[in-house]
Amino acid sequence: MLQKEQKELAEKWRVMFLEEMDIKINKALQDLMSYLLQPSRDCLSELKNFFHTVKGTALTLGFKEIGKLGEKYQQYVDGVMDDRSDISTDKIVYDLFMGMAQIYQKIQELKEESHPDTDQAVKSYIEDDQYQNMTKSGRLLIVDDDIVILDYLEKLFTQQGYDVHISSKSTEVMNVIRSSNLDLILLDIMMPGKNGFEVLEQIRSERLDIPIIFLTSQNLPEERIKALKAGADDYITKPFDKDELIARVDRILERTGKGKTHVFIDELTGTYTKKYFRKRAEEEIDKFIKDGRVFSVVFIDIDDFKYINDTYGHLAGDYVLKEFSRILMKNLRESDQLYRFGGDEFLALFPETTAEQAFEVIERIRRIVAQSDFRYKNWETIFVSYSAGIEQISYVDQPIEQILENADVALYAAKKAGRCRTVLSSQVKESLPSFTKAILIAGVESVMNQLIKIRLISQNYNVQVASNSTQAIELGMNIKPSLMIIDLSIPDQGGLEVCRCIKESLETKDTKIIMAIPRMNKDDIIRCFELGADDYVVKPFSLFELEMKIKNLLIEVK
Ligand code: GH3
Ligand code: MG
Repeated sequence: MLQKEQKELAEKWRVMFLEEMDIKINKALQDLMSYLLQPSRDCLSELKNFFHTVKGTALTLGFKEIGKLGEKYQQYVDGVMDDRSDISTDKIVYDLFMGMAQIYQKIQELKEESHPDTDQAVKSYIEDDQYQNMTKSGRLLIVDDDIVILDYLEKLFTQQGYDVHISSKSTEVMNVIRSSNLDLILLDIMMPGKNGFEVLEQIRSERLDIPIIFLTSQNLPEERIKALKAGADDYITKPFDKDELIARVDRILERTGKGKTHVFIDELTGTYTKKYFRKRAEEEIDKFIKDGRVFSVVFIDIDDFKYINDTYGHLAGDYVLKEFSRILMKNLRESDQLYRFGGDEFLALFPETTAEQAFEVIERIRRIVAQSDFRYKNWETIFVSYSAGIEQISYVDQPIEQILENADVALYAAKKAGRCRTVLSSQVKESLPSFTKAILIAGVESVMNQLIKIRLISQNYNVQVASNSTQAIELGMNIKPSLMIIDLSIPDQGGLEVCRCIKESLETKDTKIIMAIPRMNKDDIIRCFELGADDYVVKPFSLFELEMKIKNLLIEVK
């Protein structure tokens, strides 16, 4: 990983950790006061949770001293809960308060401007390889109430090529399992609401086949045995070694036949698969670095392909995909390659070709496709057109992700400008520099709000959060954001009402809206679009997907 990115990531995590700790310490203080007024086991378990999370997160990020304090006081609370102790309430409150004060003091030290230890700790933890190895596939769900862990694991496994979904709510897990095909679940044990064991039990009562790995700071042999007996497939303790974690996940998926690695040819179309692209792209990047030979990538997406499927049926759709790929491959040079990135989306890699030259080729092929007779089983001719977005590598060190993203943004601009056309990424510009753009998050879950907020701030957006609909509407009218992310189930009047108000007001009608819906439900989606929403995501969504949607909604063509 580049030095600069590493530094930025270290800084981002430091900020994330500190913000998270501020919130947690406040909450723990309230619990402590409640305990003083009315001692109860519930209060104690909340306090134990606090020290436990401090330990898990701090140790994971390499903040050893804070981690040790968390551990010490978690054990203290354990002792108190054991009933054998006869310590007075006042003494317990005093001791725990001192524990919190020590943690608070360490946090204040971390807040000081430059903290080489922190950077070092994070650096040694994440190390190299950010853009390597997107060769794996499988759908993972990560459930943890710790924002830093969620962010970290999402990145780690997305980089491996996995399709990663995250959730900070243990109560949400069953909905996800029922509505999507998961290949593996990484589950935290101590969470508010249902704990990991309860979630595991519930999952196992319906599904025996999904592998589940516990990921927890609880490192007790009896817990480990209990977990394996209850049906967990593995048990990993925080702080964990990232390579070991990846290896364990890979191995379980290989065993269950779910982790499909190294599949290089797409079965339906005979084009290369996305997996192979990474390897080839790296070779092209090397050529560029060594002797400045540029290459271009082009995203190609068939226009209104859903219409073809709906009108002529899925098999006719398959035929169109095959025939379309055949025409493209036949008309590309030997050295050019075509990859199927998914559905009706293809990517062409043009070695030693500038964006302008690639444009000529794509437009030449457009004419050939338009004149081709797509005819399934001698039925009527199916009209096929496509949109394309082009990007050329422009500087050494340019990550491949960024090249793809720019080409994708150009493709989106081509669709937006009316389809059946090709747009160069140099023709696309953001309507305003992103740092002047405001985004308002109207969400129900504070951990997710916080996580999305931090991710968007690091991309220079100006981000605000509202936690109920009245506040969301008021803030929306006030700041007139470029975009709002609205949770359908936001308290008091609900997300639909927020969407309606924003889209109905003349002043905010141009605000883009992405609705976050709790589960795939056609009626909800239709309702959202009827009220003017621009897009939606289904919870628990992938942050990467959300960020792409935001980017796409906020671009404009010159
Ligand atoms: P747009 O012009 O915006 O691209 O509209 P579109 O209708 O083409 O929308 P989109 O690209 O999102 O639709 C792709 C559709 O392709 C959705 C999915 O049902 C269908 N699809 C994905 N994989 C396959 C496949 O292997 N065979 C067939 N027949 N259809 C597929
Ligand atoms: Mg399409």
